[in-house]
Amino acid sequence: MAKLKKPDCAKCPVRVCEPSVKADEKPPFDKAPDFCPMKNMADIVQDVMTEYDRPDVKEFARQASLQEFECYEQTPEGRRTKNPRILELMEFSRKCGYKKLGLAFCAGLNHEAKTLTEILENNGFEVVSIRCKAGAIPKERIGIKPNQKIGGAANWESMCNPILQAEVLNAAKVDYAIMLGLCIGHDTLFIKYCRVPMTVIAVKDRVTGHNPLAALYTINSYYSRLKTKHG
Ligand code: SF4
Repeated sequence: MAKLKKPDCAKCPVRVCEPSVKADEKPPFDKAPDFCPMKNMADIVQDVMTEYDRPDVKEFARQASLQEFECYEQTPEGRRTKNPRILELMEFSRKCGYKKLGLAFCAGLNHEAKTLTEILENNGFEVVSIRCKAGAIPKERIGIKPNQKIGGAANWESMCNPILQAEVLNAAKVDYAIMLGLCIGHDTLFIKYCRVPMTVIAVKDRVTGHNPLAALYTINSYYSRLKTKHG
């Protein structure tokens, strides 16, 4: 049997999954490339839709799409965006009936965590927050050597503890967990152990003000080194 082409949507020249046709017209699916998952994984495309038939999932997906819709406004000049993600976070939480929010934040974003907490509380939400260093477990506990500590070999350095962050928010029975600036890998562990619905308000990027896409936006200038092929 011929080997299936791996999905490669990022390189798609046609994007017929979002066709420019009227609602009652048939999209030109025959124009999809060989690597299109709609062609090669049609069974999965079909199967996942049964998940959306579950009433809770369908309602959640509907609210998410409504949230997406409400982030645009029609003006005489045309359609434009209007809300930053922090407003969206509150609007979507209200849509879902979430009142108790859990904030898992990075020690490097103390100020942002405090500001966000104040904003959420000023808008009627209860906030449970947990810092990544909670537990005060020294990094040696997970095998970090003295010379691998950021603050120097002689100093105490608490490990980031995303599993504790997740379990504290699980135990507090928050309605919705929010990740704020957790490091790569620590975020992966938080996602693995978090058992309540969760979203991300920001990811860690130490050199771009937590905006990793800045390196892509400047890839033809300041970050051109990212275009170098390795391996
Ligand atoms: S789903 Fe198919 S048509 Fe859409 S971007 Fe991917 S490859 Fe292109």
